[in-house]
Amino acid sequence: MRTNYPKIVEIAETKSEAKDIKTFRFRYNKKVSTGQFFMVWIPGIDEIPMSASYTDNFKGVTVEKIGEATSALFKMKKGDKIGIRGPYGNGFKTPKDRVLFVAGGTGIIPVASLAEKIKKKNSLIVFGAKTKKELFFIKRIKKSCSKLLISTDDGSFGYHGFASDLAKKVLEKEKFNQIITCGPEIMMKKILDLGLEYKIPVQASLERYMKCGIGICDSCAINGYHVCRDGPVFDDRTLRKMRDFGKFKRDASGRRVRI
Ligand SMILES: Cc1cc2nc3c(=O)[nH]c(=O)nc-3n(C[C@H](O)[C@H](O)[C@H](O)COP(=O)(O)OP(=O)(O)OC[C@H]3O[C@@H](n4cnc5c(N)ncnc54)[C@H](O)[C@@H]3O)c2cc1C
Repeated sequence: MRTNYPKIVEIAETKSEAKDIKTFRFRYNKKVSTGQFFMVWIPGIDEIPMSASYTDNFKGVTVEKIGEATSALFKMKKGDKIGIRGPYGNGFKTPKDRVLFVAGGTGIIPVASLAEKIKKKNSLIVFGAKTKKELFFIKRIKKSCSKLLISTDDGSFGYHGFASDLAKKVLEKEKFNQIITCGPEIMMKKILDLGLEYKIPVQASLERYMKCGIGICDSCAINGYHVCRDGPVFDDRTLRKMRDFGKFKRDASGRRVRI
């Protein structure tokens, strides 16, 4: 019988990646595809969705400290126990050469994992962060791709501006067969529009409020799709049908709010 109870796992390793970003590794022997996510239960606090940042047997999630659940997770150490459900969602379709990855902030987590897995040497990653303090996974990315371009909103490192502006400059000069993006939805909407302009298929990984992770609670509903079950990765054709993409999301109570 298929169950959706969390499996209790021991945190085997923690690693600080950047200010307020930490990776937690644990043994979990289910097969996980890049782009899929876990529901991570922090006992006594909450259960929250987290992309798989490492998909081999020694799995991992990489977490940005934001609120109650992520702060509680940050205090946990090697040997402490968390609950894991999943993996859930569809994950990325393996892209054809040549790939342009565009990641904003923690959007780099599934992107780095995919780039590492496919190791397409002539791919290019555009990674944007607010400041240089929020950059992480740089060594990991450099091992997987031939080229990494960085942007920061405040100009403290690399290109001064948004990742979407840097991606546009790249697309003006170079050819790609596929764009993969994850990050703030406003950024991903701009990338979807660029894909349309340059006639390049796009896969984007969306974030929505999630409670069940399996298509029951409706928290992550967007224009007839459940991000947890039908996504979180959607292709450009589907994204163009979503009227709320880049405009509205649902909050914890299910209210539709402007992004
Ligand atoms: C498919 C998916 C994959 C994700 N992967 C990662 C990841 O790899 N690393 C990472 O740091 N973050 C990831 N997130 C976001 C992460 O789930 C939230 O940052 C986290 O739940 C915040 O919880 P909190 O209690 O610390 O913050 P809160 O103060 O409770 O919330 C802060 C904000 O986080 C978001 N959030 C809170 N609870 C949820 C929830 N149950 N579902 C979705 N969003 C929520 C809301 O936008 C909220 O406004 C992912 C979200 C989704 C949907």
